[in-house]
Amino acid sequence: MKRLRNVLAVIIIFILVIVVASMAKLNIQTKDIMDDYSSVYTDQKYQTPVKIENVQVIKQEVSCGYAVIEMFSAWNGGHLTEEDLYQEYGKVVTSTGNKFSEEMNKQFPEYKTSIHKYLKNTEFIDLMYQQLSEGKPVPFEWAAPLGDEWTLHYSLIIGADIPNDVITVANPYGYYEEISLDELLQRTSFLAYENMPVFLKLGFAVGLFEKNSLFSVEGDLTDGAKKAAEAGSGNQGLQSTSEDINKEEETEMRVFTSEEISDDIFNRINGISYGADCTIPRENLRYLQVSYVGFDGESHVGEIICNKAIAEDLLDIFEQLYDAKYEIERIELVDNYNGDDEASMEANNSSCFNFRFIAGTTTISNHAKGMAIDINPLYNPYITSSGFTPINAGDYVDRSTAFAHKIDENDLCYQLFIEHGFTWGGSWTHSKDYQHFEKQ
Ligand SMILES: [Zn+2]
Repeated sequence: MKRLRNVLAVIIIFILVIVVASMAKLNIQTKDIMDDYSSVYTDQKYQTPVKIENVQVIKQEVSCGYAVIEMFSAWNGGHLTEEDLYQEYGKVVTSTGNKFSEEMNKQFPEYKTSIHKYLKNTEFIDLMYQQLSEGKPVPFEWAAPLGDEWTLHYSLIIGADIPNDVITVANPYGYYEEISLDELLQRTSFLAYENMPVFLKLGFAVGLFEKNSLFSVEGDLTDGAKKAAEAGSGNQGLQSTSEDINKEEETEMRVFTSEEISDDIFNRINGISYGADCTIPRENLRYLQVSYVGFDGESHVGEIICNKAIAEDLLDIFEQLYDAKYEIERIELVDNYNGDDEASMEANNSSCFNFRFIAGTTTISNHAKGMAIDINPLYNPYITSSGFTPINAGDYVDRSTAFAHKIDENDLCYQLFIEHGFTWGGSWTHSKDYQHFEKQ
């Protein structure tokens, strides 16, 4: 018995030593890749913005590796889908790293795909820029938020405007992202990943996953890729001035989509905005993605869940608001605030569906039906004889003064909702809900 115990003790100590040593090595590797890249902004080599115009994002159903291959295939003029890949193997096999390279080489033998791991920041930027300059989207691995959780995720880098510090990513969570180099590298090095669970840390330590890694795709563009690129830009007319090109980029980034509530979306809202007592059938709800202009003047993509009865109205209204560059601070599901309406309003979040009974009754509100939406709620509080919400809206309670983001009858948002047959909470006689538009 004593002998067995000693053997066990030795094994445990041995494993601990390996784990500690791997973690220490990982820390050194991580420090090593984070070199100073500030010179790239002025480096002559990177002055020309590069952008792959014809990459369409899809909404991942099976795996991000497959989804990236699907987007890559479409860009290359092919028709391979994640579903095809899943069917081929009967299970998910291209989750990470070398396996992803192997799959790329199998599906796209016309190119040679290789993984490059633990690149220094400067090397990462250089290889990324080089690939984009050759007209190819760049598959890579990074931390990406899904709802309020970080995930290890594959996406495609499709643009780099280094002097202006804008990197564009086609993310198969269903949207394009424009981020700074700093944010990109924080996420490719997984430093942005808050509270990474130990098993993932170990995964990095033992080399299952890699930091600052991307995939190079060598070889000349196929005819399919060239044709797809022409088809993608053909209907946009001649690109005679840089202004036209900017316009075209904007068109590419526009997203105004409505879809049924997928299992992924349902899992995000189930038990939160879609409580166990929810009396609205899931089929009656729609998940929208809408482009909007933020308080930073930049284009973003927001998420809305609403009743299918107003989905088309909302798409139309948000598209017109976007074209008019109407500023909205954020458009997130209330589930990102754990269904807490007050917290969502305090963050000035514009949101729609949130199921609940009106306190002490079996009556449900128009938000519970997904038939009401609140816009910039912090600047447009709900005011009753007993006070106002959100609690931090004190500066915006006096509606006789002028300030930015105030909704009144001269406001475009007001006008668009009224045109679409909504009523405005600011017109109510007893209480005033300046953020609120609803349809019966
Ligand atoms: Zn409301």
